[in-house]
Amino acid sequence: MNFSLRCHLCGTGFPPTAAWVCDQCLGPLEVTYDYPAIARLVSRELIESRPKNLWRYREFLPIDGEPRTGLHSGFTPLVRATRLAERLGVRELYIKDDSVNHPTCSYKDRVVSVAATRAVELGFSVLACASTGNLANSVAAHAARLGLSCSVFIPDDLEPGKVAGAAVYRPRILAIRGNYDDVNRLCTQVADRYNWGFANINLRAYYAEGAKTYGFEIAEQLGWRFPRHVVSPVAGGTLLPRILKGFNELREVGLVNGELPSIHAAQSAGCAPVVRALDEGLEFPELVKPDTIAKSIAIGNPADGFQVLRSVRSTGGSGAMVSEDEIIEGIQLLAETEGIFTEPAGGVTVSATRKLIERGAINPEESIVICVTGNGYKTVEVLNGRGVEPIRLGRSLAEFEALQTAATPAPVGG
Ligand SMILES: *Cc1c(COP(=O)(O)O)cnc(C)c1O
Ligand SMILES: [Zn+2]
Repeated sequence: MNFSLRCHLCGTGFPPTAAWVCDQCLGPLEVTYDYPAIARLVSRELIESRPKNLWRYREFLPIDGEPRTGLHSGFTPLVRATRLAERLGVRELYIKDDSVNHPTCSYKDRVVSVAATRAVELGFSVLACASTGNLANSVAAHAARLGLSCSVFIPDDLEPGKVAGAAVYRPRILAIRGNYDDVNRLCTQVADRYNWGFANINLRAYYAEGAKTYGFEIAEQLGWRFPRHVVSPVAGGTLLPRILKGFNELREVGLVNGELPSIHAAQSAGCAPVVRALDEGLEFPELVKPDTIAKSIAIGNPADGFQVLRSVRSTGGSGAMVSEDEIIEGIQLLAETEGIFTEPAGGVTVSATRKLIERGAINPEESIVICVTGNGYKTVEVLNGRGVEPIRLGRSLAEFEALQTAATPAPVGG
């Protein structure tokens, strides 16, 4: 076994069980590896020779045996976004598109693939989570595939598409009266009392490692180099610091050289504890009460907020928050320029990127990756009344021709 757990704050080491807080200082636990050993095992060629899923980086992932699930998760497209680049006035722009991650169409299939595999290794028979929607979808799907019992806890005001996206796998769905932070508090108590594997609570150290693969893929897909900027959404704060951890590990083992990118945080103004803390120079985010259509990233008390702040600051990044209208504009802009339909979280990162460019935090001559982490088909109701309405027409060609004649000026000389 080439990994163990270590307290992120005081450095105390722990065996790799389902422990999530340090018994010395209550700090969060994270996975550490024997990097010299990994450096001897891996090469670009070895990784490139493997199937196109997140397990191609398995030496950097905390499992003992073979992967149990996620055999088609990850390795999502890195799309060169030329039309969006033109609209934003930048030279080199990419979308890392986890809206098409298998099987539940969000970045959560990465973290759950790892957490669920580890849950089986640790002997859990119930897989659970506290979720803003996408995590519940992914946990339910992977539990179904593994034949595990499943309980997902969600706020009671989730979008119907997100509820259906969990319900189809027949887990137990507990809709809690309250917001995500209330759900999470309850789940922490349940995890303490019942021997269940909560993907993002007692399995959180393993879950977080799955998020590094998003960063690994960006670097590999750019030809084993780093972009100059990455713009990441922030909810609980797992993804953003793990993109950086992934980049750091690639450097550590010699797979990629070069300067680390600036990592920028994107949030909705209706729930922006991290961006506000960046603006105000705080070391820890202050709690907020979420109120936004970007429900998948509506976490007012981010578990890894401290790490997000440190990752952004240490890389010379910054933060941007966007209004509800700007979220919709971001969804629209990405769809119209690149043909990618994202949910509000993706609208947040697209509009935040535009603001960071306008503000001069991102130099338009430098390469940029925008993180698109969820799929718009799950949240179609946010576009209600804003899209193009269908033109209602009968079945005859004459009606169509009348419409065309009305729409186009008659050719000169008829
Ligand atoms: C969960 C989620 C995120 C990021 O969450 P973190 O907790 O910060 O890792 C981003 N986008 C979508 C669509 C999500 O579901
Ligand atoms: Zn500690």
